[in-house]
Amino acid sequence: MALPNTHAEWLARAARLDIRRQALIDGRFVDAASGRTFATINPASGQVLAQVAECDAVDVDRAVAAARAAFEDRRWAGQPPAARKRVLLRWAELILAHTEELALLESLDMGKPIADSTRIDVPATARSVAWFAEAIDKVYGEIAPTAANALALITREPVGVVAAVVPWNFPMLMASWKLAPALAAGNSVVLKPAEQSPLTAIRLGELALEAGLPPGVLNVVPGFGPAAGKALGLHMDVDCLAFTGSTEVGKLFMQYAGQSNLKHIGLECGGKTPHIILADCPDVDAAATAAAWGIYFNQGEMCTAGSRLLVEAPIRDRVLAKIAEVAAGIRVGDPLDPATQLGALVEEKHMARVLDYIRIGREEGAELAFGGRRVHAASGGYFVEPTMFTGVDNRMRIAQEEIFGPVLSVITVDGVEEALRVANDSPFGLGSAVWTRDIDKAHRVARGLRAGIVYVNCFDADDITTPFGGYKMSGVGRDKSLHAFDKYTEIKTTWIRLG
Ligand code: NAD
Repeated sequence: MALPNTHAEWLARAARLDIRRQALIDGRFVDAASGRTFATINPASGQVLAQVAECDAVDVDRAVAAARAAFEDRRWAGQPPAARKRVLLRWAELILAHTEELALLESLDMGKPIADSTRIDVPATARSVAWFAEAIDKVYGEIAPTAANALALITREPVGVVAAVVPWNFPMLMASWKLAPALAAGNSVVLKPAEQSPLTAIRLGELALEAGLPPGVLNVVPGFGPAAGKALGLHMDVDCLAFTGSTEVGKLFMQYAGQSNLKHIGLECGGKTPHIILADCPDVDAAATAAAWGIYFNQGEMCTAGSRLLVEAPIRDRVLAKIAEVAAGIRVGDPLDPATQLGALVEEKHMARVLDYIRIGREEGAELAFGGRRVHAASGGYFVEPTMFTGVDNRMRIAQEEIFGPVLSVITVDGVEEALRVANDSPFGLGSAVWTRDIDKAHRVARGLRAGIVYVNCFDADDITTPFGGYKMSGVGRDKSLHAFDKYTEIKTTWIRLG
């Protein structure tokens, strides 16, 4: 069916949505054992969207037991990789076939523009599932170069029960970066979506069942971090915990692992991407436009948001003028309006946090070049306009801490060495970018940046084929690409003595 074209049509479709609100445990939709529910809010209106099952440690126990039973009887892990691939490819097709519904749920639940949910989130989620499905029957084991009287086989096996705890900024896509490789490798999974955005996770689970994933292999437990999330972290029967979220909570998961069974921990945490534009930038307008969208896309709620702009003085005014021009043209509004480019921040508390950082920036002595206000307040929604601070010193809090909103901090630098020093003077190391026409400088900066991802003369290039993750306090391990399998597989060495 064709997607709606107008705001009115999207609103009409939203009014007819049938929302799944229960947990998915062992192939069945169930209430939380306690009977409790929590409200998930539409951040564009402040209104309650749905009451969702509030899972806690009791439900987590049930979900982990179901996942363990599914793993032990090999109903999924025991299937040939080609058979798992067929199921996952069907799942990817179903995700695409439900683009309208999934995009609506995502935009209503966390505030991103429907144009982005339909064009980016849903297709990228389906691609992630399809890519790992296609990969799994092409991964071979190894034979070690031992002496002739032995054969040493090196094989990969699923780790067992994987728990995935994910954030609200790309709820479906972040879940798919965990689910697709974990399931393709033969694991059973318990997924805990963020409490701000549980709806697409539940629906993804339902579509997986429809695609033929056996019951118990994928379980979804909506609930709060300190209850359901912590219970997964501390669970003695979870073998691997894959997390995306803040650095603060990532550190907790390491503690939970140490306090319980030393489960594998994969962490994708925060960032404070330095976006370096050197004076010999090949295309100043393109760089400035990329810098603007690099921070304003997805309301700035991006782990890789280019939140620190490091620009050389000779081109600074041109770059800033272009960023201001792009920002002035960005349409902030109802996520369900297809013309909207910047939607609502995920929740009132988060909006307050972003506005607080804007206050802090002023108090620290940075200059508010534009923006800085809540807008469309009459809607009841949590909208903040594109904002830029100039005259920022890298020691300021707005340069060191992750704001996770549409707030750009501009720092003037002089030369490659200073740009590198400032860029690396951060607790984070996820994204980074440099614009220069000089290939030597490009390589020097790319090698010198302590970050998991470096963009040269571009920003936010992305593909499921490339690893994604950070240095320093941005995390441990990588999502996407074949490297993602490292997290979800054990390596086994089998020695066979030959006569
Ligand atoms: P968050 O850390 O608050 O929450 C993430 C998840 O952890 C949620 O499911 C939440 O319920 C759970 N959680 C919260 N407290 C917990 C606790 N005490 N014990 C166990 N679980 C707990 O993060 P967020 O606000 O949802 O997301 C924003 C953060 O995610 C940002 O820091 C952003 O940079 C990061 N992020 C990183 C990547 C990446 O790939 N590196 C991608 C997207 C987002």
